[in-house]
Amino acid sequence: MALKNYQYNKILREYDMKQLKNKHDLDIRTEEVYNAIPELKEIDDAVVTCAVQSAKLMLMGDDKPLPALKKVTEEASEKRTALLVKHGYPADYLQPAYHCPDCKDTGYIGTEKCHCFKQAIVDIVYSQSNIKTAITRENFEVFSYDFYSEDYVDPSTRLSPRDNIKKVVEVSWDFIHKFDEEYNNLLLYGNTGVGKTFLANCIARELLDRAHTVIYLTAFQLFDILEKNKFGKGEDNYESQNQFEYILDCDLLIIDDLGTELNNSFVNVQLYLCINERFLRRKATIISTNLSLDNINTIYSERVFSRIASNYSLLKIVGDDIRLKKLF
Ligand SMILES: [Zn+2]
Repeated sequence: MALKNYQYNKILREYDMKQLKNKHDLDIRTEEVYNAIPELKEIDDAVVTCAVQSAKLMLMGDDKPLPALKKVTEEASEKRTALLVKHGYPADYLQPAYHCPDCKDTGYIGTEKCHCFKQAIVDIVYSQSNIKTAITRENFEVFSYDFYSEDYVDPSTRLSPRDNIKKVVEVSWDFIHKFDEEYNNLLLYGNTGVGKTFLANCIARELLDRAHTVIYLTAFQLFDILEKNKFGKGEDNYESQNQFEYILDCDLLIIDDLGTELNNSFVNVQLYLCINERFLRRKATIISTNLSLDNINTIYSERVFSRIASNYSLLKIVGDDIRLKKLF
């Protein structure tokens, strides 16, 4: 994906800031530990002295000090850990705490971009600050079954809303846990306010935490990008072409609120192309919609419906409008 220079620089600046903060935090922890355990500072000082002496000798062409230095460093490291634990600190208290341990907050693993860099690109290109905010509020840690009644049985699912949502959540976890091994897609359908977007965000958060790239778009936003990609000119077209690439290629695409876009033949064709292309690439999609299966069949083309019916887990969510429940 072609990033503009300023976008690329913005991402790199964020990595720089993370590294600076890591270093700053580590300095503070080190200072704290040195005050609490003076012996640990003596060990560190001895390692530094040994390293300086070895470097001097090596500069003069003597490479014998290397094994000795290695031994001193290893022994010091063991002693440090033992001292930390003895004084009630975590063993890794003096290790840097990285946001992304995979690339140590550099954005790269070797010469390859790390998954966190790829997600940073996706976030910047799709202005995804909305999902980042949403998943801090909407995730499985705060997901509550209390909003789903167990007082009646819904005729369409033959389950109480509570039992039904438990099943849906179970399938969602299965989707998350098997994400890398088993190709699957989800259709979350049901009335307004039953928690479809909430659930999609919960899943997004889990997959983002597991190093996958996720794009969240409302149906309206998706078709807007697809339309600009097809008909836009100049700058507009450059942006949308850029956006289009990852729509087909991100690990998980969430299309929220399908059916709220202005429906026409363009939308129909594009929706099919989008979900079909992702299917061919074995890339997962979650669609949420207020439409019933019958409505999907009527409003969109037969081939859209058949793609969804045959390749998506169809999860109906039933219940009362949670947004209204939260008000009382
Ligand atoms: Zn990383």
